[in-house]
Amino acid sequence: MSSIQQNIEHITSQIADVQQKCGRARDSVQLLAVSKTKPNQAILDAAKAGQTRFGENYVQEGVDKVQYFQTNHPELDLEWHFIGPIQSNKTRLVAEHFDWVHTIDREKIAQRLNDQRPQHLPPLQVLIQVNISDEASKSGVEPQQIFDLAQLISSLPSLTLRGLMSIPANVDNHQQQLETFKQLAALQTQLGEQYAHIDTLSMGMSGDMDAAIEAGSTMVRIGTAIFGARDYSSKA
Ligand SMILES: *Cc1c(COP(=O)(O)O)cnc(C)c1O
Repeated sequence: MSSIQQNIEHITSQIADVQQKCGRARDSVQLLAVSKTKPNQAILDAAKAGQTRFGENYVQEGVDKVQYFQTNHPELDLEWHFIGPIQSNKTRLVAEHFDWVHTIDREKIAQRLNDQRPQHLPPLQVLIQVNISDEASKSGVEPQQIFDLAQLISSLPSLTLRGLMSIPANVDNHQQQLETFKQLAALQTQLGEQYAHIDTLSMGMSGDMDAAIEAGSTMVRIGTAIFGARDYSSKA
């Protein structure tokens, strides 16, 4: 068994443990394997361990991988999530190749993804990215802006709004992580009272997964703990 396969088994059992400890239903948290900067072979290893959902941050790298797997391994039927920042000149590639987008943060991006989604594909499944605690980073809408953006998205036929996503400031204190994730979970509950299909709360990474699950995450985005540390030297 490869180390990637072992890591997937380990994370999967950790997710199950935390779910059980905090009284959540089995299989209420999905694992998104974040494969940015990693080669196709690493994705193939993960797929052999039963992993089907993959997250990518860079448009061209992600599109290359989607095309590689659709051409060479259609039997795996992988699901591709775009989780990086989106520039408006890259929306077409995202709309044409991905199944999900976690990082909608403005109306223009939502509108363009809708207009550019090919008619033969199902609606793009989308999440609104919320700036919940990270004052320094500009990514994500402020909590009070969620509802205007949700209203626009819900009027667009080629997008289906599924919930919220956030990348909180990086802290290693469990209690502090939990407080922040609970704020996002409360916003998700409010959103669910207004719209149908709100079932996905994307929060938790390798360093804060347990707190995220405890606070109600339904999809954790895990890179390092599956694939090991990333090498960015080719991206500089
Ligand atoms: C890179 C990345 C992850 C994975 O982070 P790890 O700490 O390696 O688990 C998750 N979410 C987003 C948005 C990312 O960019």
